[in-house]
Parts: sequence; structure tokens; C-alpha cells
Amino acid sequence: MASAQDLERQDSAAEIDAGDETIRLLIVDDDAAFRRLCSEYLRHQSDVLYDISEASTGEQAVASFDPSTFDCILVDYRLPDTSGTGLMRSLRPNLGFATPMIMLTAVGSEDIAMEAVHSGAADYIPKHRVSDKSLHRAISYAVEKDRLRRSIRDRTEKLQQANEQLRLKNAQIQRFYHTVSHEIKTPLTAAREFIALVSDGVIGKVTEAQSEALTYAIQSCDQIAAHFNDLIESTRLETGKLRIDTESQDLGALIRQSVMSVKASIDAEGVALEQSVKPNLPAVQVDGSRIVQVLSNLLSNAAKYTDPGGTIAISASLDADRAAVIVSVSDTGCGIPAEHLPHIFERLYQVDERSHASTHAGLGLGLSIAQEIVTLHGSELQVDSEVGKGTTFRFLLPVALGRGD
Ligand code: ADP
Repeated sequence: MASAQDLERQDSAAEIDAGDETIRLLIVDDDAAFRRLCSEYLRHQSDVLYDISEASTGEQAVASFDPSTFDCILVDYRLPDTSGTGLMRSLRPNLGFATPMIMLTAVGSEDIAMEAVHSGAADYIPKHRVSDKSLHRAISYAVEKDRLRRSIRDRTEKLQQANEQLRLKNAQIQRFYHTVSHEIKTPLTAAREFIALVSDGVIGKVTEAQSEALTYAIQSCDQIAAHFNDLIESTRLETGKLRIDTESQDLGALIRQSVMSVKASIDAEGVALEQSVKPNLPAVQVDGSRIVQVLSNLLSNAAKYTDPGGTIAISASLDADRAAVIVSVSDTGCGIPAEHLPHIFERLYQVDERSHASTHAGLGLGLSIAQEIVTLHGSELQVDSEVGKGTTFRFLLPVALGRGD
């Protein structure tokens, strides 16, 4: 039943859309002469065809007609068995989507008219002002408004469905990335180990040229592994599974560990590295391996985007109120254009083809993961950059409780 009504309503909307308009109208009024007058007024409209049904009481309107099949209902406020608003209340529950109702009111009953509009009437017309024009204008306006409202509702529903489908697809893709990354990491690790065995001469003597080629192969394996790690981290981030486990840590040791992990690539780029860690820094309350991950990422980015002969500096110092340590990684590299700065922490964002063209092409995931880790530590990764001069990333880490001195 409901779906048949829906179809009827859709047909009606289609008719109105097509410009070949038919408005199905129900007039509820006990005054037969007035009903007749209204019908005559409307039947002579040139741009719209009115398909009119009539009822003389509220009971007849409810019993004889399915109100949802009308585009508009014209109701006299004073009916013999109920009021216009009373009829509206008894019809409303039957309407899947409110058919607009226009209330006909008596002279001097503006209060009633306003009450009717507040209880959901689309409009009101004082009976003594009814003319062919006023009636047709009020009905057309109410029907058009209703059509727009329905179309917005339909679009909103469709958008919600599309959003839900996108959400499910996204979750599927995330799961796929996660599984593939895990599946590839195991054979990749095995391949790397075998190459290392050959390179180390365990399986047989290797020439210098072979050793160089094998070193390159190992670096490539490490690079692929780093990309897959980023993908796994990124799926964790998307699914809210990126967590930290903090404990009191020596920041100097974490910085040394980070530097060690990227030293080879910094050296390979021909870039100098300066460390400036203030002595006697208090311990910090952090997830050590996650902070090493952030620092390694910032350092390797700095190496990637700094030309040979440039400098990278990593520093740590206590901030003014001694509750946090400020950590920064800066470089004298190419810098980031101002218009890109607000986006570089977005997932998959890359400034331009420099990164793709580079031999160290990334996936545009590193900074989004680093930002999430820093956020989980209660801080924010901030960036200052000037094209041609260099870039500085900085963030705060909380001093461990009881050690902040
Ligand atoms: P990617 O894997 O591409 O390096 P990131 O998320 O780490 O992805 O960085 C996003 C983008 O920010 C990079 O593509 C790069 O253009 C820019 N970027 C990051 N760090 C630096 C830096 N130190 N100097 C210049 N550009 C940088």
C-alpha cells in the first residue's frame, strides 16, 4: 500500500516537473457553493490542470480519501464535526510525507490562521479574499515548496546512502591494504635476509661490484618495507587503532636511536647533521618507539628534501614553564610553498612531483602518521617553512611526572 502511494506521488512530482502540470486537490468545506466557486476558479487556470475532489466534513475527508494521493488539501477552518487543525492532526499520521494543507479562515480570525500555520499548515487564505488568482497562487506555491522539500529529502537520503557505501568501501580498502602489506612483508624480509647472506660472503665470495649491487638491493628492500609499514600504520590510524603506551624515557637516547636509523641515508645525500640536545633534560613521558618513528620520519624527509652540502639540525630543550620539552627538526632544504603548508599533514598529500620524481619517492603518509602520534602525546606537530631556505618541524613532549626539574 505504502509503496503504491509512493509511486503515485512520484508520478505526480514527475508531472509537475515536466511542466505538464496536474495538481490533485482535495477541498474540505461544508459549504457546497464555496467548494463549487473554488473549483470553478481553479478549473479555469491555463497553466495547470486541477484534478479536484471534494468532502463536506472532516469525517468524510478521512473516510473517503487517501490524503497522500493529493498534492494539496484546502481545508475550511470551521467544519461541522471538527476544526481545520483537528482535521490536520487526524490526517497527519497517515501521511508518509506531509501533504501541504491550506487553511481557509473567516474574517478577523488571524489568530486562528497563525495557530494553523504553527501547527503545520502550509498557508492560510481568509475566505473573503479568495479569488482565482489568490487561490491558484497559494496552491501552486505550497505544492512547489512541498516538491522542493521532497526532492531535498530524497537527495539527502541518497547522499546518506552514498556516504555509507563509501564508508564501507573505504573500510574494505583499508582491510585490503592491511592484509596485503602483512602478506608481502614476510617474503620481503626473507628476501632481504638472503641478499644480506650473499652480500656478507656467507654463501660464497662476492666481488666489489656484486657487493655494491647487493647493497643497493638491500636498500630497496628496506625502502619497500618502510612503505608497507606506512600503509599498515595508516590503516591503523584510519581505524582508530593507532595507540601509544607511554613511560618515562630519556629523550637524548631516543634522539640518538632516531639519528642512527637514518644516518646512512643522510650521509648518502651528502647532508650534514647537527645535534643540539640540552644537557640534563628531564625524562619525558612518551611511547619511545613511536617518538623514534616520528623523529626518523622527520629526519629522513629533511634528508630527502635537502640538496648535498645542506644541513639538518635536530634539537631538544626545555620550554619556558618546564612542563614540556621542545623538539625540533630543521633543514636548509627546498622548503614548502605557503599554500601547501596547511595540507602537508593530510593523508596521501604530496606537495608536487618532486617527491614522485625523487629516487626516495614516498607515499604521502609519513607526516599524517607523525602528526597522529604527536597528537596522541597531547601536542601538535607544527611547521615553518620558506621556499629555498628550509623547513622546521617542532612539537612538545610532556616531562615525566616527578622528574620535571
Ligand atoms: P612523503 O612520503 O611524500 O615524504 P610525507 O607525508 O612525509 O610524505 O610528506 C608530505 C609532503 O610534505 C612531501 O611530499 C613533501 O612534499 C613535503 N615535505 C615533508 N617534509 C619536507 C621537508 N623537510 N622539506 C620540504 N618538503 C617536505
